[in-house]
Amino acid sequence: MEALGERAHAAQSSPSPLVGEGRGGGSGSCGTAVPPLPTPTPDPSPQGGGEKRGPAQPLLSVRSLVKHFGGRRSFSGRSIRGAVHAVDGVSFDVAKGQTLGIVGESGCGKSTLARLIMQIIPADAGEFLFDGEVVGTHALDLVAYRREVQMVFQDSYASLNPRLTVEETVAFAPRVHGLSRRAAIARAHDLIFRVGLDPKRFAARYPHELSGGQRQRVNIARALALQPRLVILDEAVSALDKSVEAQVLNLLIDLKSEFGLTYVFISHDLNVVRFMSDRVLVMYLGKVVELGPSEVLLGAPRHPYTMALLASMPSMDPDRRTTEAPLFGDPPSPIDPPSGCRFHTRCKFAAPVCAATEPVLAEIGPAHRAACFLAMPGSGHPQAGPIA
Ligand code: SF4
Repeated sequence: MEALGERAHAAQSSPSPLVGEGRGGGSGSCGTAVPPLPTPTPDPSPQGGGEKRGPAQPLLSVRSLVKHFGGRRSFSGRSIRGAVHAVDGVSFDVAKGQTLGIVGESGCGKSTLARLIMQIIPADAGEFLFDGEVVGTHALDLVAYRREVQMVFQDSYASLNPRLTVEETVAFAPRVHGLSRRAAIARAHDLIFRVGLDPKRFAARYPHELSGGQRQRVNIARALALQPRLVILDEAVSALDKSVEAQVLNLLIDLKSEFGLTYVFISHDLNVVRFMSDRVLVMYLGKVVELGPSEVLLGAPRHPYTMALLASMPSMDPDRRTTEAPLFGDPPSPIDPPSGCRFHTRCKFAAPVCAATEPVLAEIGPAHRAACFLAMPGSGHPQAGPIA
């Protein structure tokens, strides 16, 4: 993490962290007479206190979310067999102005969760509340919700239309949502500038004429074009070179404070998640296994899976050298997940109770929850107890 922090800091402390990627010296103006984007409207209910639309009201609340893919209905029609349990009873909140990091191995359900939040795919069960309003109801229909939530995907090339220029790409959504062509182009130029590209040089270019970092900046500009409040970043920097990754991370942090954004940041890189996130959610085989403040969870994890993920991180520190793999084998099939704790087939602390009973996501500290019998005194696990 230190290496990343230093890189990011170095990029931040340069005259412009974006110099290497496009607009050059950073004059402070894009050079074209474009109206700036309106400043985000302050929250109408500053007193907060948990009421709707107040600062203490979570921006996004997800409740008991379930998504299974495929499978066949049994002969009786009462159950479905052979379905992939991609997301199974996931609940969490994302506070306003914060970044929730989501980590886990490939196939744990992170990206499915992102697509469910975006409403790209329908959930089988569960509920979304956006700033206190239930999504998909009269109070907040899907069209209004999709203006508030935008997404940046991992594959910067596949997520751009190769036939549209940068300017057309960013101006497309505002045009569809009723902005005049002139105003949409002006907004596009402003955003292209704000993500660190010179509109004079880049507005007329096509995706194949850009580098990976430049394409991801265009994707970020496009995501901001409708002035969303929540941005989902699904492995948005994973495909970038490390130096470009640090620049884009700094850009995301700057844009977050400039536009008052809230992020859901999905990544398999714990260093990046630690750098970006206020809170971290760890997923395993479609379930949340640990959730808590970033420094607490990554500093003193309580779930053996989180411990294994942290132990798997490469380190230059010779004291952290290990000859034993922290985690063996692949995750079990999500078509037929193990009984009880889904991690028990790979957990070195597994006890009989772990295979027999499923642990709930229980409070184990201030705003810190884990689904592990080890962390719950009196759970029946022989090693269960308070933190050493
Ligand atoms: Fe390991 Fe048991 Fe905790 Fe699951 S509940 S993580 S198997 S100790």
